[in-house]
This record gives sequence, C-alpha cells and structure tokens, in this order.
Amino acid sequence: MDIILLGPPGAGKGTQAHRLVEHHGMMQLSTGDMLRETRKADTELGRKVSDIMDSGSLVSDDIVSAMIDAKLADMGPEVGAIFDGYPRTAAQAEQLDEILAKHGRNLDHVIELEVDEDALVERITGRYSCANCGAGYHEVFKRPEVDGVCDECGSTEFKRRPDDTEETVRHRMQVYRSETAPILPGYEKRGIVSRVDGMGAIDEVTHAIDSILA
Ligand code: AMP
Repeated sequence: MDIILLGPPGAGKGTQAHRLVEHHGMMQLSTGDMLRETRKADTELGRKVSDIMDSGSLVSDDIVSAMIDAKLADMGPEVGAIFDGYPRTAAQAEQLDEILAKHGRNLDHVIELEVDEDALVERITGRYSCANCGAGYHEVFKRPEVDGVCDECGSTEFKRRPDDTEETVRHRMQVYRSETAPILPGYEKRGIVSRVDGMGAIDEVTHAIDSILA
C-alpha cells in the first residue's frame, strides 16, 4: 500500500509516519529528511539546498522527484511507501504519478492532517530533539523527565532545526496554502482523500489513520 501524508509543517506527518513504519513495516520517504542529509554535504547542491530550506521556500521539483525515484528503485514492491512532505506542488504530484507507474506501484490513500495554524506555530517553534538519538521534545508539551537530559539515551546535547523560527514557519505555511493544498482536488476526484483531525493526541491521530488503512 502506498500513501501520501499531507498537511502543513508541524501537522505531525513525521511522527505518524514513524508509527506506520513501526506498526506496519512501511517505509517512510521524507523529502525533508533526504534534503537535510544533502545539505550536510559540502557540495554545490548541499549549499544551494541549504539556503532554500533556511528561507522556508521549496527546493526544485526535479531534485525532490529524482530523490523519490531513486528510493523507490531500491524498494521491493511488497513494502508500502509513506510519502511524507512530498508531493508539495502540482508538478511534483504529476511526477509522482509517472514515477509510481514506472515502478509498477499505485497510490492507495492521501491522508490530510487538518490543523489549526496558530497552534502549529507554537508546536513548531517549541520543538527540539536529542542531538544523539533524535528523540523529539517540546518546550511546553513534552519536556524530558529530567531537565536537560534525554529520556531515551541520557545525552545532554539537544538541537533545533534552523528553519523552525516563527518567520520561516509562517512562510512555510503560506507556501503550503498556495503550492501544496491545491493538489488535493485532483486526488479528491480519484476518491482517495481522507481527512484526519491532526490536533488530537498523537495516539488518536494514529488510530484514525489505522482505521483508514484497515
Ligand atoms: P520538511 O521537513 O518536510 O518540513 O521540509 C523542510 C524543507 O525542505 C522545506 O521547507 C523545503 O524547503 C524543503 N522540502 C522538503 N520537501 C520538499 C518538497 N517535496 N519539495 C520542495 N521542497 C521540499
């Protein structure tokens, strides 16, 4: 089964994708994660991608679609793909259709996480993670049990995403509204869109997604 998780930044796509990986053995294909790997490299592409990401704008369609194509080429047909943060434009949605057809795959569900934007800004600007194991935390909603110590691995080093500032988050949301949300009607015509209340507790959202996939 191949699915798209759609929703503005901070809607919980990554969190839910991790759960689908754990519970259903699916594979998370996050273009954001792939690009964060790319930007670590001291290459021309790494630097270009870095500047675009820090501004909250979108990296070119061809770059992200090529990344998805390459990942799918390595995946067996029996493993379901979760597209997380992709497609984000009409062009990417078209490219995804072509890529899926090329790999003999089919899109089963588009799940939109519906959220309140102002609450999202608080969610995103307060989030940080363990620099060692990647466990996620939040200044208000999920502090470590012992201040400054990771619950999972005991590390005292934490990090924040450089693009999680209020200004960039507002811009990323505006990009979502103008570039990404317009791809939904095309999927609606195919009858594969489901909506989930993304403001609920993490477990409730997981349960709602599981019911759609059942
Ligand atoms: P994310 O982790 O999904 O919020 O992505 C972080 C940043 O990576 C975005 O703000 C964009 O700059 C870039 N990015 C991630 N996925 C895409 C995509 N599908 N198309 C274009 N840019 C992307």
